[in-house]
Amino acid sequence: MSEQRTLSIIKQDATARNVTGSINARFEQADLRIIAQKRICVTKEQAKKFYEIHREKAFYDSICEHMSSGPIVVQVLQGEDAVAKNREIMGATNPANAAIGTIRRDFGQSIEHNAVHGSDSEENAAIEIAFFFNSLELVG
Ligand code: ADP
Ligand code: MG
Repeated sequence: MSEQRTLSIIKQDATARNVTGSINARFEQADLRIIAQKRICVTKEQAKKFYEIHREKAFYDSICEHMSSGPIVVQVLQGEDAVAKNREIMGATNPANAAIGTIRRDFGQSIEHNAVHGSDSEENAAIEIAFFFNSLELVG
């Protein structure tokens, strides 16, 4: 295990429900430090670029529409084993299958409106962090 950084996004369904602070508390309770954070709106084109890995999936257009439908909070979390730890506290993609006490179980509405995004590997974390932040904005 080592100190890592991972990209997290609090999605539009969660910002709309005003639970940004409640979700951030989960990260801090898990010893993940928010070392960068901003509330932004992205265009559908930007969302399509971010989710490009899913371009062949049936839900691609719909998730890009959702991601660009209102404010999102993009953030960098830092801590021991941050990539896997964040995936664990997020819970399964579908909130209905997510473990009790996870963010998606407690704040997600559906498989698409599932409150948060988290990088799935250290390699993708570096790519996704660079998508939203420059190095001066990462204050660890
Ligand atoms: P995760 O966010 O858990 O890494 P994926 O990378 O597989 O999940 O999918 C990216 C996002 O696409 C999910 O967080 C969810 O919002 C949406 N999604 C995934 N599967 C479906 C589906 N079957 N129907 C609708 N939306 C989906
Ligand atoms: Mg994913």
